[in-house]
Amino acid sequence: MGDMVVVRREGLYCVPGDFYIDPWRPVDRAVITHAHGDHARYGHGHYLSAASSVGVLKSRLGADIHIDGIEYGDTVTHNGVAISLHPAGHVLGSAQIRMECGGEVWVASGDYKVEPDKTCAPFEPVRCDTFITESTFGLPIYRWEPEAQVIEEMNAWWRKNADEGRCSVVFAYSFGKAQRILSRLDPSIGPIVCHGAVEPLNRVYRASGVDLPATLMVSEIDKAALRRAIVIAPPSSSGSPWMKRFGDYSDSFASGWMLLRGARRRRGVDRGFVLSDHADWPGLMSAIKATEAEKVIVTHGSIPTMVRWLCQNGLDAKGFDTEYGDEEEDEASPPAGAAANKETASSGEPPSGEPDA
Ligand SMILES: [Zn+2]
Ligand SMILES: [Zn+2]
Repeated sequence: MGDMVVVRREGLYCVPGDFYIDPWRPVDRAVITHAHGDHARYGHGHYLSAASSVGVLKSRLGADIHIDGIEYGDTVTHNGVAISLHPAGHVLGSAQIRMECGGEVWVASGDYKVEPDKTCAPFEPVRCDTFITESTFGLPIYRWEPEAQVIEEMNAWWRKNADEGRCSVVFAYSFGKAQRILSRLDPSIGPIVCHGAVEPLNRVYRASGVDLPATLMVSEIDKAALRRAIVIAPPSSSGSPWMKRFGDYSDSFASGWMLLRGARRRRGVDRGFVLSDHADWPGLMSAIKATEAEKVIVTHGSIPTMVRWLCQNGLDAKGFDTEYGDEEEDEASPPAGAAANKETASSGEPPSGEPDA
């Protein structure tokens, strides 16, 4: 038979099943890998996701969407295609979609991360004939340090700022990254304050049984206490009037892109913490190998590099053009003037030629 999954103008389409995977235009039936905005859009007739994703999807798309949640590993059959969802280790409820039809198995990864963390079910390799993989950080230069080490450095930075009477601000994507950071912060250092875009997601995580330390809204803390506080806020709040109350704060940005000095300079922050919810290069390679797939289809990220590498290693690889973005970049754009001002104020580094990716 032909390809089980193809690209249509609405999105990735499962031909025998007659449904879409993370479609970018409105369709009747959508199977959703996870609730980041570029994968889970408004306007579909019916949604299917992992049970642990339903709460986040409803909080982001509205409580009135038509949605079914299934547990990881359970199977539903649609038009003769057996569909099951398997943990992707990316954010709460993230799933790889396994499709079996006529003895052939395809798996669409959505976004995934191989290193386990405390906030979601760990990535589970699923054997298949064809694996559709993301490639956000699909270049050999991308190699992450363990999460525990990165957030230990963040705790040390926070402690130093607190001892000097200065508030610490971390810009981090509000769904996923923020909760991973929270799960490892040391609350003995000082109060933890979350932006209004982050706190509703904390609630969904806690309701799913994820253990997060106590957090405050900015309205619940007085100015003196803020000097020992750490604030978790979305990157879009950088340079906004909301930041003024924190006085002479030290700021940082938590993202895989912080590996690139040029990207950090452009953000104009004091500190960059290299922390990603996506697999690094060795993670992508180990995940692909573990599927034992002979055919690999590469989506959003570094498609040409990954396809070339996989072909050189004896696999049948090609790319799919999709409209998925990068949630970290999507939420990361501060108001135009803000970054520039901060940068001229704080940048002593020479210009660098590294790409922003
Ligand atoms: Zn994502
Ligand atoms: Zn993605």
